Amino acid sequence: MVGKVPVGGGAPISVQSMTITKTADVEGTLAQIYALKGAGADIVRCTCNEKEAAEGLARIVPRSPVPIVADIHFHVEMALAALEAGVDCLRLNPGNLRKTEEIKLVARECKDRGVPVRIGVNAGSLDPRLYKKYGGATPEALVESAHIELGLFAEVGFDNVKISVKASNVPLMVEAYRQLSETVDHPLHLGVTEAGPPPAGTIKCTAGIATLLSEGIGDTIRYSLTADPVEEAKAGRVLLEALGLRERTGVDLIACPACGRAEIDVYKVAQEAQAALESRDIPLQVAVMGCVVNGPGEARSADLGIAAGRHRGHLFIRGQIVRVVPEDEMVAALVEEAEKLVEEGVAARLAAADRDAAGEAEKDRRALLDSKGDDANRSEERVEMIAKRLRDALDGDSPAG
Ligand code: SF4
Repeated sequence: MVGKVPVGGGAPISVQSMTITKTADVEGTLAQIYALKGAGADIVRCTCNEKEAAEGLARIVPRSPVPIVADIHFHVEMALAALEAGVDCLRLNPGNLRKTEEIKLVARECKDRGVPVRIGVNAGSLDPRLYKKYGGATPEALVESAHIELGLFAEVGFDNVKISVKASNVPLMVEAYRQLSETVDHPLHLGVTEAGPPPAGTIKCTAGIATLLSEGIGDTIRYSLTADPVEEAKAGRVLLEALGLRERTGVDLIACPACGRAEIDVYKVAQEAQAALESRDIPLQVAVMGCVVNGPGEARSADLGIAAGRHRGHLFIRGQIVRVVPEDEMVAALVEEAEKLVEEGVAARLAAADRDAAGEAEKDRRALLDSKGDDANRSEERVEMIAKRLRDALDGDSPAG
């Protein structure tokens, strides 16, 4: 348990991220923690690198909406201060906290307080002795680093541990986690470290994390992006939703990639729809399709969608067109229909659409009958006019003859 969040043992995969504010800035850090939670983070890590940071943690932890992990490098006294501040978990880096007695001291303290530790091995800060032994940061070296730390913890009877063996190289990280999962039963925290800015960074993280999750390896994940950490939390949440490992809470917008057939600016409409639906937290799969020819069929599985055609938007529910709106009202109509769909359900909305269609058809029928009546009247007038012309012609007083 990290605070109230279970990690491992069949618990749902959790999403983590890390604040980039100074931890001493209590209000700024809390604002970021709330933003991360809003984007999908279950657990948040804050650095505890100085006395002021530990003091900040003591004020942040009681007000945080999610469990807080203190990130510790180099200084054992920062680990102890973070525990004193009441954090829910410590992350220790075995690469730069290497004094045996100090490590055992922290482990004893964590054991007494019931606080878990993440052994956070990192290829970029691997213990130089292991680096030398293996000739570099190999998967074996990363795994051995975790085992050495576990051994020290075992000496004091502490095993409330989760482990990460991160690297920025995806195949290296994947292999290290595979080897680790063969040799330990502890929950694993997955991540591709220092992945860089999106989109490449996001793709690297997804490649590594999704590969392992698909093999049943991993209990908690973090995207390490050179970006607003909200993007990390969002990416982690979206990955779990996409893999069916987390129930979707908001909108899932699907959109066609557009092609020469597209009759609208698909990207613009998709972005506008995403923004409008996201802010309403609507739990539907919504499609934006560039043309009415293929759109509704291609997006048949979407709850709701819109496809453009002849300067109009064709709203469809599960592939069935239910309404046609002017092009400039497409996004507003989509949002309105999404709200009704959430409120009334698919069956009720399709039935309403059928009733509307029946009403329209009746109007059309009446209009047709009226127009036929008009045509009949017009025909009679025309026959009368021709007859009059014939009579006039026969009388010889008209040039029409
Ligand atoms: S829905 Fe229409 S515009 Fe979009 S990719 Fe398919 S064919 Fe092209």
